[in-house]
Amino acid sequence: MASGHTLSETAASIQSGARSATDTVREAIERAEKLQPRLSAFLSTDSQRALAKAAEVDAKRARRQPLGPLAGVPVALKDNLCTAFGATTCGSRILKPYHSPYNAHVVDCLESAGAIIVGKTNLDEFAMGSSTENSAFGPTRNPWDETRVAGGSSGGSCAAVAAGIVPAALGSDTGGSIRLPASFCGVVGLKPSYGRVSRYGLVAFGSSLDQIGPITSTVEDAALIFQVIAGHDPRDSTSVDRPVPELTKALSRPVKGTRVGISEEYFGPGLDGEVSKAVRAAIDLLAREGAEIVPIHLPHMKYGIACYYLIATAEASSNLARFDGVHYGYRTPHPEDVIDLYAATRGEGFGAEVKRRIMLGTYALSSGYYDAYYLKALKVRTLIKRDFEAAFESVDVIASPVAPTTAFRVGEKSQDPLAMYLSDIYTIAANLAGICAISIPCGFDSRSLPIGLQLTGPAFGEEAILSLAHQYQLRTDWHTRRPALIKGT
Ligand code: GLN
Repeated sequence: MASGHTLSETAASIQSGARSATDTVREAIERAEKLQPRLSAFLSTDSQRALAKAAEVDAKRARRQPLGPLAGVPVALKDNLCTAFGATTCGSRILKPYHSPYNAHVVDCLESAGAIIVGKTNLDEFAMGSSTENSAFGPTRNPWDETRVAGGSSGGSCAAVAAGIVPAALGSDTGGSIRLPASFCGVVGLKPSYGRVSRYGLVAFGSSLDQIGPITSTVEDAALIFQVIAGHDPRDSTSVDRPVPELTKALSRPVKGTRVGISEEYFGPGLDGEVSKAVRAAIDLLAREGAEIVPIHLPHMKYGIACYYLIATAEASSNLARFDGVHYGYRTPHPEDVIDLYAATRGEGFGAEVKRRIMLGTYALSSGYYDAYYLKALKVRTLIKRDFEAAFESVDVIASPVAPTTAFRVGEKSQDPLAMYLSDIYTIAANLAGICAISIPCGFDSRSLPIGLQLTGPAFGEEAILSLAHQYQLRTDWHTRRPALIKGT
């Protein structure tokens, strides 16, 4: 891939024969390797397998056989998606070494469409974090400013797209982990509605919240990947059997007449002035183009962080019980007995944040505290969900910031978990409510760091957010800017 090209451009150049899949994939891998010491975007790359797959695409083309829509396009996967090839680490020592016996559903979808997986990207351990600093293998750096974080937990995937290594990557979003790093890295990140994309083969964090979604540099490209990975899969019981809309048509929906909701809850204290200004300017642009701006109220959003950090930790404590030194990955070398085997394996294998979450979640679920914490959080979650349902009776889309600030410095918040949790203040509500949301670039602050605009839609309302986001990109050029690092490499 000529660095910085979009997925659509890359796919078209391979389809037309202007470039071979082999050259495109080789270039992506070389770039990944070259930038690795600076960005730490990848946890593994597999050039042998990727080049063999690329050669298959080239051979198919030479024989004039039909090619899939993503034929020869290099893509990267967050390393909590299982692949039957290579390792799956979840950014954790406890899964070193772990080799999955099967591919995640989305991996099969991408490969069936012809995409070439070039590597697995860095993440906060088990996707718990907002900066990728919780990775056991070191933090990912932001391609716009290497002293800053890429955001998290899908930081590696977002940095890889922003740095022009791959035109598309997959991430997972439990409380903002696609959208937050997308906004910090100046790329597009889509969190689909709960149930839209099968999580079969995604290592579970918070099972009532997790969704897989695309990270790209344009909305059109995100729609393309979404179309390939969305749809029913009986292997995930939460996957919904509902037709996936034909998105290429939907993207041309006019802005005029779209009802865009604005809620003061997204513009409260803690929101950086420059972020607020850029987001408001984006909303003004939509208004000038004929969108109807409607004030709405989401009264329970202020409980979002508290509610999320009870539910997500409770589910995580249960999901992570399976890492016991017997079933997967790491095992402590000299256990005294079976209890010591569990305790020492988990003590040595998990990092500090994961241990904190397991303890918080176990506490919230324990007898005597269950009603006061976990059950209460579930009730508040219902109220948050109802707030959105009521809002979507009068609006099509809600516009807001993605994050209260732009990318912070590496180390700035790593000793203060609460400050880190507050980065998710605008993103977690969509996961609690099971609805869809997208992050798109809408400006830069005075340090030249990207700012993200979040468009949130109702459950299974991806068409509405993707079309408005695409129409915004047709009228702006924020998404076409590339970090200086691209020009210099
Ligand atoms: N930052 C949030 C957390 O730490 C969200 C993570 C995610 O979406 N995977 O839980």
